[in-house]
Amino acid sequence: MSTDLGTPRVLSETEKAVLLASPRGYCAGVDRAVITVEQALELYGPPVYVRKEIVHNKHVVDDLRDRGAIFVDELTEVPEGSTVVFSAHGVAPTVHQEAEQRRLKAIDATCPLVTKVHQEARRFAREDFDILLIGHAGHEEVEGTMGEAPGRIQLVESPEDVDRIVVRDPARVSWLSQTTLSVDETLATVEAIRERFPELIDPPSDDICYATQNRQLAVKELAAGVDLVLVVGSGNSSNSVRLVEVAKEAGARTAYRVDDASEIQDEWFDGVRRVAVTSGASVPERLVDGVLLQLAERGYPDARVVRSAEESLMFALPKELRRDLKAATARS
Ligand code: SF4
Repeated sequence: MSTDLGTPRVLSETEKAVLLASPRGYCAGVDRAVITVEQALELYGPPVYVRKEIVHNKHVVDDLRDRGAIFVDELTEVPEGSTVVFSAHGVAPTVHQEAEQRRLKAIDATCPLVTKVHQEARRFAREDFDILLIGHAGHEEVEGTMGEAPGRIQLVESPEDVDRIVVRDPARVSWLSQTTLSVDETLATVEAIRERFPELIDPPSDDICYATQNRQLAVKELAAGVDLVLVVGSGNSSNSVRLVEVAKEAGARTAYRVDDASEIQDEWFDGVRRVAVTSGASVPERLVDGVLLQLAERGYPDARVVRSAEESLMFALPKELRRDLKAATARS
């Protein structure tokens, strides 16, 4: 379906082209979380309960549901003694406690890069900082991170929120962020915070994860040179929604998010020669293939891959699952 892009050819007035951003799609944290549920289903047998969507992609969730996963919003919906997987977005410590109280077998598929932010929140709280968490209200990752430092952490969604911040000591303020935000927007919010609190302490390393940054960079490089950007991803996927915003800010004439090829609209293609395609970090490649197939049917040729970064990060499966897999192998 796609080939690597060498030196781009100059297109004629009417020639159509599809540019496929790379990296795109699954990140290491999503890959690990999805494999965790698959392996848990195989090892323990269905049903395996999953608290919240394991990753924010409708197709992935539907597929796992068909294979025996039961998705719940709260642990009260999980029968005592059952196996439950926590999603890649992480959970607050109170959720771990509740799982223990209900004698659930919990497997924690929280992405290690989200866990890193949790650790930073605990450390800043121990050191008695007021923590400003840049993120989106209601997102599961934000709820989990805020739960690590109750009473010490407050949410900042945009630079407009900065005037309303109340802290105990302006000299002891730090910030953290959700892992899937727009890099540029977050920097603008941090600048606004720093203007109010010049002694603001930064996190020890970037909280916006490598996968979010790489996918934004890749779409930015393509956006200004195309007529249309298609981002494959679900509406509740923060990093997919950000990719549409980043593409528009980077100069794309139009950019749309689609869950899959069936959502593509005819009217988007009026006068469009060059199309860029990318996908969020929770999107299986088969959905991108479906979009490319539809573009081919509309007269757009095979996509040429534009690679802006290499990714090789992989995470080990959660320790609870590794231990049980090892025991099962020893028994067989
Ligand atoms: Fe982890 Fe980043 Fe993927 Fe979220 S987007 S699961 S933080 S690697």
